Amino acid sequence: MIRLRNLSKSFGDNQVLKGIDLDVARSEVLVLIGPSGSGKSTLLRCVNNLESPTGGEVIVDGERVNRTDLSPRAFQKHLNRVRTHMGMVFQHFNLFPHKTVLENILEAPTQVLGRRREEVTVEALELLDKVGLKEKRDSYPAQLSGGQQQRVAIARALAMKPSVMLFDEVTSALDPELVGEVLRVMEGLAAEGMTMIVVTHEMGFAERVANRVVFMADGHIMEQGPPKEIFRNPREERTQRFLADVL
Ligand code: ATP
Ligand code: MG
Repeated sequence: MIRLRNLSKSFGDNQVLKGIDLDVARSEVLVLIGPSGSGKSTLLRCVNNLESPTGGEVIVDGERVNRTDLSPRAFQKHLNRVRTHMGMVFQHFNLFPHKTVLENILEAPTQVLGRRREEVTVEALELLDKVGLKEKRDSYPAQLSGGQQQRVAIARALAMKPSVMLFDEVTSALDPELVGEVLRVMEGLAAEGMTMIVVTHEMGFAERVANRVVFMADGHIMEQGPPKEIFRNPREERTQRFLADVL
């Protein structure tokens, strides 16, 4: 479903990703952990080319994302199309502040896909129901709690019917009592078979939901395996140190 081959990314002299090879299978939930600055966000952002890799290949759904054979204009068109298959949710809720919850969800399917508003509204309301926010359809983001905003952000990403969801520390900015409601929505998605890459510090979530945990450090994948193995029995000294700090 997702295939990274020898993926590298530098910012100036700073090589942040140093030849990452990673495959994510359909319906797999992959949790990415690692110290601050290890390249987790950069890896995620390379998958949908929010950052363009310096080298290597990103293939999603059988299609090369970081094509180098296209004119800038054709490449942008290509990106717009391949990105419709990928939903991304970030730490900071980036909802449109001047649009209602429902309008936020309708935006991409109507504007990007050109779908009819009436038809998308039916789906949007189902998605709002799924994330437990049907009654908030006419609220503005500022009127919602952080946890509610993140659930809207997830619903908004799902409205594009993505085949892959990318989550970057979506609960890190939330008050502790709001974390669970967002994790439950993600857990529900996983149970429905969504393919997900999740960067998180929520080790309980990782242990319950992940099929595989990948530990990154210094731009490399240091160790990976089923959550129980990684958390209870890490082989690498680097992983042991990291887990001793966060667990
Ligand atoms: P955290 O856990 O703190 O979110 P991370 O693992 O997500 O860390 P990244 O955000 O991927 O780490 O950053 C990895 C490295 O790349 C850091 O050294 C960071 O300073 C650098 N970096 C990231 N984005 C940029 C950018 N746009 N320009 C320059 N350097 C960047
Ligand atoms: Mg990050």
